[in-house]
Amino acid sequence: MQKWAKIIHRFVASAAIIGSVLCAGGIPAARAATRPVRITASFYPMYIATLNVAKGIPGVELRNLTKPMTGCLHDYSITTDDMKGLTRTDIFVVNGAGMESFLNKVIKQQPNIKIVSASDGIELIKDATGENPHVWVSVSLHIKQVRNIASQLALADPQHAKQYGRNAAAYVVKLEKLRNDMHAGLKDLKTRDIITFHEAFPYFAREFGLHIAAVIEREPGSEPSAKELAETITLVKKAKVKALFAEPQYPAKAAQAIARETGAKLYTLDPAVTGPMRDDAYIVTMTKNLSELRKALK
Ligand SMILES: [Zn+2]
Repeated sequence: MQKWAKIIHRFVASAAIIGSVLCAGGIPAARAATRPVRITASFYPMYIATLNVAKGIPGVELRNLTKPMTGCLHDYSITTDDMKGLTRTDIFVVNGAGMESFLNKVIKQQPNIKIVSASDGIELIKDATGENPHVWVSVSLHIKQVRNIASQLALADPQHAKQYGRNAAAYVVKLEKLRNDMHAGLKDLKTRDIITFHEAFPYFAREFGLHIAAVIEREPGSEPSAKELAETITLVKKAKVKALFAEPQYPAKAAQAIARETGAKLYTLDPAVTGPMRDDAYIVTMTKNLSELRKALK
């Protein structure tokens, strides 16, 4: 009996060594066994997606890089503290598509960090400012992002591959239901013209067949000039646009002025860049967007 135990012990030990050699592309098994696998998400929508993929897995820790933010990630520059926080991270989950302007700096300073890039393989919309990074705002593309996150996490951390896959599949079922509800709810609208605040909604509009007649602030946080404001007012009147959509993250001053001048009504559309750190947050936000759009465009 004792002899068997020894043999098994030896077998397990050598399997562990082989395992750590085989895991060369991921986190070495020996290292992962002694402490949790640490994942950092670059910002809120990536955090919520990764939370769904990595939740309830013992030995996996998740944190968000950015402190609660008031706007979108392109308004953020990485701080020394945030960079320091990343030194204790094994895997960094990013949206990609150019959203994390500081990504090269991170890779340069921490060459061992594994990057999980959620927008890999997704064709990007090109607009006046270049390739648009707001991929997650389309529910269908967000489903692709969740699948990307799960498969790349599985490669970076093969120990938990099965759990990532299982969690992602369960979340995708919920997201597919959300997508179906939104397509059904937005099918019969009186008008499909909307005016939005920053360039966050082209993927969303394309998915749900909405037409963005104008964007009030192309650069978020920058108030439109008097000339731009006047141009937008003319456009809203000419196109007979009835609904303006401000975002909860940005002040609605310009939108209020346009609403006053044109008689268009002001509503809220949330690009899901801030909110509670809960696994259902993306679905809750999109469901609110659905009812707001129906109220505005029905
Ligand atoms: Zn943005």
